[in-house]
Amino acid sequence: MKIILNTKQLYVLRFDKDEEVLTGIITFATEQKITAATFSAIGASSQVTLAYYDLEKKEYHDQTLYEDMEILSITGNIGQMKEKPIIHAHGIFGDSELATHGGHIKAIKVSATCEVTLTVLEGELNRTFDPETGLNLLS
Ligand code: ZN
Repeated sequence: MKIILNTKQLYVLRFDKDEEVLTGIITFATEQKITAATFSAIGASSQVTLAYYDLEKKEYHDQTLYEDMEILSITGNIGQMKEKPIIHAHGIFGDSELATHGGHIKAIKVSATCEVTLTVLEGELNRTFDPETGLNLLS
């Protein structure tokens, strides 16, 4: 006998029009007391804020795209920092010309639906601030 899938650790979440996905995942993780997880998602968005991290300046450069796009692929994880859930997610979005935009995700507003598959991990994924990179790294 082999355990192929333990559904107690797997959630499929659906976000609807105008919901913000990362805030919703944080709320879900808080309610479920999730301290470690990975997730992926697909769907459609009406607005997305993506960022590029400038390692030299140690700052994110944000750009918000106000257009309907396909959420082609989101991959991320949930850890915790100072005992609160923290998300790290990257994503690729496709526009009406089938061109893609990608980056570190700051926010996603759903246009039609967003389907998130979330796997809860045992234990904790903790993040602490790393002065060398200026990022909150897994620790
Ligand atoms: Zn990132």
